[in-house]
This record gives sequence, C-alpha cells and structure tokens, in this order.
Amino acid sequence: MGAECLFCRIVAREVAATVVHETERVLAFRDISPQAPVHVVVIPKEHHADVSALTAADPGLAGELLAAVAQVARAERLEHGFRTVLNSGADGGQTVFHVHAHLLGGRGLAWPPG
Ligand code: AMP
Ligand code: ZN
Repeated sequence: MGAECLFCRIVAREVAATVVHETERVLAFRDISPQAPVHVVVIPKEHHADVSALTAADPGLAGELLAAVAQVARAERLEHGFRTVLNSGADGGQTVFHVHAHLLGGRGLAWPPG
C-alpha cells in the first residue's frame, strides 16, 4: 500500500499524528475526531484492509494489536474500563481501509451505543 492509504502515511510519518505507543510492528495515535475523552487508534504498521484480512494473514500480529490496546489502556489509566471497536466494511462503518482498533474510554460508554 503506501501513498494512497492514510494510515500507511502516518506509519511513514508523512502525515502527522500524536503517537502514544509504538512497537516494532504496531503504532497507536490519538484519533483526530475523538468520540470519548480518550480515543486512540491502534494499527499494525503493515497494511491489512480489515480484521478478516489481518487474522487470515498474520494472527500473531492481531494478538500484538490487542496487546497494544491493553498497554495503552493501562498507560491512559482506564482502570474503570474501556471499549475496543474494530469497524469492518461499509456496513460496519469503516472509513479507513487499513485495519485499526479504536480504544475509547474516560467516561461511561452506553451499550448499545446511541
Ligand atoms: P473508521 O471509521 O473505523 O474507519 O475509523 C477511522 C478513524 O480514523 C476515525 O475515527 C477518524 O476520526 C480517524 N482519523 C481520520 N484521519 C485521521 C488522522 N489524520 N489522524 C488520526 N485519526 C484520523
Ligand atoms: Zn495502509
């Protein structure tokens, strides 16, 4: 991927983002349009379109993604809880087709979401 994928461009530091966590294979940065007091986007650095493609290609990387979610939640002191969302496809509300987990927290989150 690369030039035409926004999140690949963030990985390449061609688009600025507020990075809060980084490992060799995973990057986490603050969502530009936060839906909660804490809203972090966690991505694999390698391009995979969605969670289906990621788990098919590299389930270990999917595990690293979730481990990063947990680590950011700890760093953001979300000890009262948080929500992790992976939107897939048009019906799932996915708008950026580089798989990402939303980490939302810092307030009570209604379920089902309004
Ligand atoms: P989704 O709708 O699940 O594909 O989520 C895409 C998310 O990316 C949205 O929550 C956007 O607010 C967020 N987003 C879009 N552009 C940027 C950016 N340049 N930096 C950080 N987050 C972004
Ligand atoms: Zn990408």
